[in-house]
Amino acid sequence: MSTISAVVLREGRWCRWSADHRHRTIAKAPWLAAIVLTGTSAGACAGGVPSTALPVALERFVSDRAAPSIDSIEVWICDVPDVTADPLYGDLPLRLALDPAVVTGQIADRTSDYFSTISHGLYNPSFSAGATIEMSEGDTAETCLDAALDRSSTTTTVVLAVATAEHVAGTSGGWGRPGSWFDCSTDCAARTTRRAAYVGASDFNPDWGAVPLLDLIEHEIGHTLGLPHSGIDPDDGSYLSGLDLMSNSAAPRHHDQARRDAPDTLAINRLDLGWLPVADIEVISGDTDTDTDFALSPSTGVDGRRLAIIELDAHRVISIEFLAATGFDDHFEHSGVAVHLIDDRPGDRELRLQQPLGAGPPHLDLLQAGDELEVEGWRIRVNDVGATARVAVTAADR
Ligand SMILES: [Zn+2]
Repeated sequence: MSTISAVVLREGRWCRWSADHRHRTIAKAPWLAAIVLTGTSAGACAGGVPSTALPVALERFVSDRAAPSIDSIEVWICDVPDVTADPLYGDLPLRLALDPAVVTGQIADRTSDYFSTISHGLYNPSFSAGATIEMSEGDTAETCLDAALDRSSTTTTVVLAVATAEHVAGTSGGWGRPGSWFDCSTDCAARTTRRAAYVGASDFNPDWGAVPLLDLIEHEIGHTLGLPHSGIDPDDGSYLSGLDLMSNSAAPRHHDQARRDAPDTLAINRLDLGWLPVADIEVISGDTDTDTDFALSPSTGVDGRRLAIIELDAHRVISIEFLAATGFDDHFEHSGVAVHLIDDRPGDRELRLQQPLGAGPPHLDLLQAGDELEVEGWRIRVNDVGATARVAVTAADR
């Protein structure tokens, strides 16, 4: 048995958890080894841990790498030839004359502001212009991205590549990956970790006006931080939730065509990224036999109790949070309570599943005062929605 320390960010200072937890390493995904802490959660940081032991699944979240405070994102262009073997572009004729410096100027300030805002200053990406990869007929988006990574600066931590061609219907608009960033120590350059994001040309079509669509780039940057999707359609794998950056990132634009940014993100992702301290979580353990009644502050806010967790088993929890119809979430018709089933067993396509419960897609019909939801043997009742939300949780068989 060796020792490991997990750290959580608590109000701007780093709290180090007790270093004598037993732990084991599992492969959450091929590129990620997660440290699983077991045993008690009594921490060494006064005020930095909740009074109730964290469910094992949550300990796993807080023990892997938090988002960095800064990121250096280098913007490259993949110039797709008129004839290309990559089926992603098919025989679509449009080619945009994209310049790395111009694209960087179009996205830098606003995308940086988006992340600084949703993280309350904890994550601040900056952007710089790379160059253009002139693709040959046999090149693909992947080979272009690889070439950009190889040529990126040693101080660059993420490469973002934008293609000059659109993608054929039915294909993904882009992708993002953390590469080996979770395991890097001294050398976290993108050229080493292969941490990268890629998008097609659609969001830069001049028809959108001076400001391109930014929600997909924001979504892919979320993947470079290790975030999984939420709100997946079990039938076709599409992303249907309008509640989360990591689902249908275009949801705000369905409400208002002028919108360019993605929604904010879920409390469980904020916990994963180190943007929400464990001390601000209400934990309801699986063997609780009394009613639990608590107030939740908006999960996208800066402080207060912002997440409630019901422990189901070693891998599954139910998350309860109060989402306010403000800021990047002002496309919601009203504020209310969102409930998700979180399952961190790695699947074929996802690091963990995060499925909204209750209302159907796009899941914007949040629970209101008087609403009740019975899931996984638990009854969740919303008693009040105002500046905070008052929620009661009871085992459903009582
Ligand atoms: Zn995605």
